[in-house]
Amino acid sequence: MTTAMVICPHADDAAAFCGATLAKFAAEGWRIVLVRVTNDSKDSVGLSQEETILRNTEELHAAAKILGVAEIIELGYETDCLADAPMVPMRERFVYLFRKYRPYAVFSFDPFGLYEGNMDHIRVAQAVEEAFWVSCFDKHHPEHFEEGLAPFSVCERWYFGRNLPGANHAEDVSEYLEKKVEALCAHREMMRNTINQLRLQAQTFGRRLPLLDMAMEGDLRPLLALVMQEQANAVARTFNLGEGRMGEVFRLERFGDMEEFVQALSEPIPGAEQAPKRERFDAQKTENGQTLSPEHTVPSNLNQRVGLMGHHHLCAGAFEELFQMPAFRAAYADLVDRLQPSPDLQIETLFGYDIFCYHCEYWSNEEGRCSTGWKNKISKDAAVLEHLGLRPGQVTRFEDLQRLLAAKISDADLKRFCSVGEWKCEMYILGACQKAYQRLRDRFGGQP
Ligand SMILES: [Zn+2]
Repeated sequence: MTTAMVICPHADDAAAFCGATLAKFAAEGWRIVLVRVTNDSKDSVGLSQEETILRNTEELHAAAKILGVAEIIELGYETDCLADAPMVPMRERFVYLFRKYRPYAVFSFDPFGLYEGNMDHIRVAQAVEEAFWVSCFDKHHPEHFEEGLAPFSVCERWYFGRNLPGANHAEDVSEYLEKKVEALCAHREMMRNTINQLRLQAQTFGRRLPLLDMAMEGDLRPLLALVMQEQANAVARTFNLGEGRMGEVFRLERFGDMEEFVQALSEPIPGAEQAPKRERFDAQKTENGQTLSPEHTVPSNLNQRVGLMGHHHLCAGAFEELFQMPAFRAAYADLVDRLQPSPDLQIETLFGYDIFCYHCEYWSNEEGRCSTGWKNKISKDAAVLEHLGLRPGQVTRFEDLQRLLAAKISDADLKRFCSVGEWKCEMYILGACQKAYQRLRDRFGGQP
């Protein structure tokens, strides 16, 4: 079961900033764990501190139930005093909870959010942010390991806040906004205090808002529903979620700059739970490198005849190794499973795109071309064909092509065509092709 942990200083933060998303994930089968850092002892109007703690805690439990939260963890810090709370011990609590609950995703305030005046929000955000780092280290808090816990790294970080520079994700929560409103209404004392703040400010301004007075004394719903809907509509408009949709906004971080690297080179861990489908990353992939379906591109006579563009003739010299490599298999899964190159396979020399292009993550359906470095690759095609003495339209037996490659492609040639530079290839950097060509030469003869 995928776990999401939401870490907030105050009882109402989760519902207010990400409540609909939590409700959505809970409905999709996630386990939601809510960490409340303070006791909210001051957040009410007209109640004693003891009564305030009691009411706010009860209301948190009611709201959590509405959202589908499975567990609430209380850290019990004094509310509105985190500015003075030492950071490292607070961070240790988060590290401990990461290691214990092993959340796939963590929701919290963005430590880089703008115009945040609440020090509790800022301090918790900072401590959570640093806990992401040190929960992975085996020398931070080794006492946790005595309990059988282990270093752990959260995968996705969902940051929220009043103002998020770099907001990059809107979760479509159209079907769950109602839950969010309901959960916020459950936080009656805290919402009344929030409304009262605005009321007092309006008084200083010399005015009053009857809508606020009505909400203070009676039903919170009309006011909260109005505000939440306006907010969610604005998010949906900004992120083009579609007509009539509603969203919650986040700065969503996963692997950062390493996202593509991980996507291209990773393979599933046997028996491990796989990551939930995430629209943002999947959508991004579709935009840049949509793949055509095998039905469109894999010819029925694939194992008799394959067309290869100029520089892919070089790859044919390393098919055996490439087809075994996880990175290559992941990139060309549909093709690798279907193509079994035999010595008699006919290789047709093409000038232009071939079947490998259509299965490559850099292929763009929208633009109908390779999305990266395609101009350079055309010059590479011409250079490779000239070097091999092949012409478009020519058909060569696969084994004869391998013999030709063994004779004509030295280590220096391979380096010129494939290593870092204008024609670079990621597979060369992984070292498989150099080894493959050495084997080819051992088999057919040729100069290294
Ligand atoms: Zn708060």
